[in-house]
Amino acid sequence: MKKSKSQKFSLPTVAIHGRHTHAFKGPVTTPIYQTSTYRFSDSKDAVRYAQGDPNVLVYTRYHNPTTNEVEDRIALMEGGEASMLFSSGMAAISSAVFALCKSDDEIVSTPGLYGGTYRFFRDTLPDYGIGVKYVDPESIEDLLYLITPKTKIVYFETPTNPTLALVDVRKIVRITRSVQKEFGKHITVIIDNTFATCLNQQPFDLGVDVIFESATKYLGGHADIMAGVLTGKKHFIEKVKGITKHLGGIPDPFMSFLLDRSLKTFELRVERQNSNAMALARALEKHPKVLRVLYPGLRSHPQHALARKQMKKFGGMVTIEVKGGVRAAVKVCDNLKVAVNAMSLGGVETLVSIPVYSSHINMGKEELARHGVTPGMIRISVGVEGIDDLIADFRQALKRI
Ligand code: PLP
Repeated sequence: MKKSKSQKFSLPTVAIHGRHTHAFKGPVTTPIYQTSTYRFSDSKDAVRYAQGDPNVLVYTRYHNPTTNEVEDRIALMEGGEASMLFSSGMAAISSAVFALCKSDDEIVSTPGLYGGTYRFFRDTLPDYGIGVKYVDPESIEDLLYLITPKTKIVYFETPTNPTLALVDVRKIVRITRSVQKEFGKHITVIIDNTFATCLNQQPFDLGVDVIFESATKYLGGHADIMAGVLTGKKHFIEKVKGITKHLGGIPDPFMSFLLDRSLKTFELRVERQNSNAMALARALEKHPKVLRVLYPGLRSHPQHALARKQMKKFGGMVTIEVKGGVRAAVKVCDNLKVAVNAMSLGGVETLVSIPVYSSHINMGKEELARHGVTPGMIRISVGVEGIDDLIADFRQALKRI
């Protein structure tokens, strides 16, 4: 496996050992510092902390050794300078936005976003005077006039949820950099890399500034934690840490411990999810009850060539559209025996959800069309079960429509 510039070892090795390779002496497993506060050696420690001494621990909303260990490991995995963990993906996204934007600033985004992010942009940010404009990824050159001196962030997701459409990362970066040069100021390019993960897509190599992942998904991988993570340059992470002291969306030490444990099997799990997803996509593509299968690894995917250019592998998310609309989609989901009818993604269990009933609920026809979402869609987060069991399960459920 290729090592990114800042990694001495490959991704699976740093995911397990972090920086603690020989001759590090200490526990094999990161201890849980389940404490809200820390004892000072004397009263001057408080002053030392205020003067910026990083060795003085004060309060878990500011720092925690278990969390810091996991942050460092994820930074190595992503190939970035520093990472910061949050209590959820949305806490990470909102903290990044409030760290970079104030009233009258703007964000330019692509419309194919996770529903929660889209609703945060649509329903919350206008109340704070922060505007969001959308660029169609099919005409990404429009960024040239959509980005203005007020733009602080260019934000996008690829592959997108739930349609698995791709956004050309190199193009977005190239255009943003050319406009920012004209304005003489830096614009922060943020990618939501949740669907692909750092195993399948390395956005720092493509020029983005900040990588966001909902660690609730593949990094956590067991449907048992909520977490989010931002990775970027040290000065950006410091800025976000500053505002998060006020916003407070920090992780619990026990969650950090569970995530620490999950990282050790990250590569094994995601490799299996990749191969299971490819096999399931191929099997369902031939099924007479399935109108289309959206998976970037399939030759039939309209952006397969772009996927090969910017992704290493194609991930564990597959979306199918069944004949018969939402009623048929419901029937399939309700008849699956191995795959679980539940929201979320990225865990070892295969999960299915119907976008018009979940991530894209309460959206009008026009909004759904803008997001490319149709009523007969089923989003599948492919797990690590035996692939023959999964294919047989979908075949028997599709028979019911
Ligand atoms: N981004 C994507 C692509 C997601 O799928 C999700 C959650 O489903 C989020 C962000 C938000 O993350 P969280 O649920 O951890 O807050």
